[in-house]
Formats: sequence, C-alpha cells, structure tokens
Amino acid sequence: MDNSAPATIRRRRAVGLPASGLLAIAFAATAAAAPHQHGVATLALALDGGQLRAELSLPARDAVGFERRPRNDAERGKLAAARDRLADGATLLGLPSAARCAASAPAEIRSELLGPAPAPGGHKHAHDDEHADFDVVYAFVCAEPGALSGLEPALFKSFPGLKQIRVQSIGPKGPKRATITPARARFDF
Ligand SMILES: [Zn+2]
Repeated sequence: MDNSAPATIRRRRAVGLPASGLLAIAFAATAAAAPHQHGVATLALALDGGQLRAELSLPARDAVGFERRPRNDAERGKLAAARDRLADGATLLGLPSAARCAASAPAEIRSELLGPAPAPGGHKHAHDDEHADFDVVYAFVCAEPGALSGLEPALFKSFPGLKQIRVQSIGPKGPKRATITPARARFDF
C-alpha cells in the first residue's frame, strides 16, 4: 500500500508566522474531526526554529478505559497513572535525544475526567453515553533542531488500546499529514 503524501501539497505561506498561529491552523482541522473515534488519537505539531509545540487529543477510553469521572480507588489509580504518562511529553512523543529538547513549560493536561466531583444533590447523571478526551499541550525548546527530522511516539506502548494517531504538522518542509500505527510509528516532518 502506498501511503506517500501527494506530490501536490500546496505550501502555505507559513514562514514568519508565530508557532501559535501555525498551531491554530493545524488545530482548526483537528477540531473538525470531532467527535472522536475510540482507538484514534490526533497530534498537531508545529516546529518553528528550535521551538516545538504539540497538542495531543486522546479518547479517555484509550487512556483509562472509561469516559466519565472515576468512581472508585482503582479508577482513580488508573487516572493518576495516565496523567503521569501524559505529563512526560518528551518520552511520550519520542523526541530524538540528539535534538536535545527540553520542556519549556509543564504539560497542560485537560480532561472532563479531571474536573471536580459534582456537588452532592446536584447533577448526578453518569453520562455514560458521552465521550471524553484527554487534551494535552506541550511546549519544548530544542537546542539542536536540525536533529529533529521526525519523531516516533511511545503512545502506542503507553496506551495499548490506541490503534492510530492522525498527525498533522507544520515544520521546515511545510505542512504535512500522516496516520501512524503501532507497525509504522515513525513520523517525519
Ligand atoms: Zn468516546
């Protein structure tokens, strides 16, 4: 099967835009894909000089096995473990060590599962029919961005329910989209 990108990808006038602007372009397309599919995560990357920004969206089902607030200690334990794994962005995203990337801010992890418990006597429906995600924003500064030709996320190992990651990036070679899988986990900018 030929998964190579079409040769006619139009190059955006990306040079000179701040990374946050580039990322907003990528995320607009990501958001349009909602609601999520179980087993499928999305990852948007913007590499601008030595600055790498990433936003990961992962179905809660694939992160912890449920998509509502935890109901017991076992579920709270799963949630804490998932949070720890998601916080370690350099490992999770598989950034090459030669690029010498370091987080420039702590990972911002958001999820409906992490919110405060509903007030007693308040709204008590379980909402088992609804979906929930983990949305994580990462920011890195890389001392050797030339060594950052791609990455190989460890997400499939950390979250075995995950079957696909839809990646879109804006990097030195322009915009790119690819779907990576456990068998083909490498993404090149
Ligand atoms: Zn779901």
